[in-house]
Amino acid sequence: MDAHTLLLAAPRGFCAGVDRAVLIVEKALEAYGAPVHVRHEIVHNKHVVEALRRKGAVFVEDETEVPEGAVIVFSAHGSPPEAYENSRALGHTLIDATCPLVTKVHQSARRYARDAMDIVMVGHAGHQEVIGTTGQARDRIHLVETPEDVDGLSFADDSQVTYITQTTLSMDETADVVERLNQRFPGLKQPKSQDICYATQNRQDAVKELATRCDLVLVVGSETSSNSKRLVEVSKDRSVPAYLIDDASEIDAAWLEGVGTVGLTSGASAPELLVEEVIDWFTDRGLETVDTVLVVEEDVEFSMPANLARRLAEQPAAG
Ligand code: SF4
Repeated sequence: MDAHTLLLAAPRGFCAGVDRAVLIVEKALEAYGAPVHVRHEIVHNKHVVEALRRKGAVFVEDETEVPEGAVIVFSAHGSPPEAYENSRALGHTLIDATCPLVTKVHQSARRYARDAMDIVMVGHAGHQEVIGTTGQARDRIHLVETPEDVDGLSFADDSQVTYITQTTLSMDETADVVERLNQRFPGLKQPKSQDICYATQNRQDAVKELATRCDLVLVVGSETSSNSKRLVEVSKDRSVPAYLIDDASEIDAAWLEGVGTVGLTSGASAPELLVEEVIDWFTDRGLETVDTVLVVEEDVEFSMPANLARRLAEQPAAG
């Protein structure tokens, strides 16, 4: 193997929202016992999902598949209002793992809709988060993915139009669309705060820095994780080859021919254990140096949902 140095991106991996969602499922299993149903993959990572499945989590695509009175956790990406209504009607014990940053976007969408505004959402059609957010004000939200989509929009009064964005897109990804929105609708109301999540931005910034120092970048993450796939693109955009791998077993030695420095990062839904296995893969093959490239420190933490925290507090201490 030619590679002699591995540079680890910091920050990388689990964001506060994913960390919390995984912990919520584990704590719900502790508090209520198996099975705990989970609406949609709790996070977009097959290793995390498998590990929780082994502990007794049952993943479903739709809350109506879950038996009456059962315990259900809603995933970090957020869910539309009808999912809550269905679950309530079925008497579920509902524990909401929606990331608080996604909830904030939901609240903005509902507020704009109450003010009779039209809302352009910049996001990917079919993504779980987009389904949850557009559901907050279906008649008012217009989804766009590209600047060309903006050209197809028209509103009676553009001073009553604003926009929101999918949290897992970066500023770079939304910049073109937002620019086109501002050109096309001069009266466009600017949102009070950015919806872009700190974790998405920080992980992309860290890869940009890696790309200046590496010959190749590896991203640990699943195909289903849009933020992981985007990290690959960020590197490729800077002419540094990059590959998405679920784990160390997917590394192809042929990628490393003539490569001296390898960059390593992971998507917001990839557990650190998988990164450690990749590091071991390299050190087992004689790699000499492992270093970290720190771009920014993160200290974001979210609290547990109130109903789960209460249930855990009521339980007698073990032992
Ligand atoms: S990427 Fe950001 S918005 Fe999404 S779950 Fe993580 S912290 Fe929340």
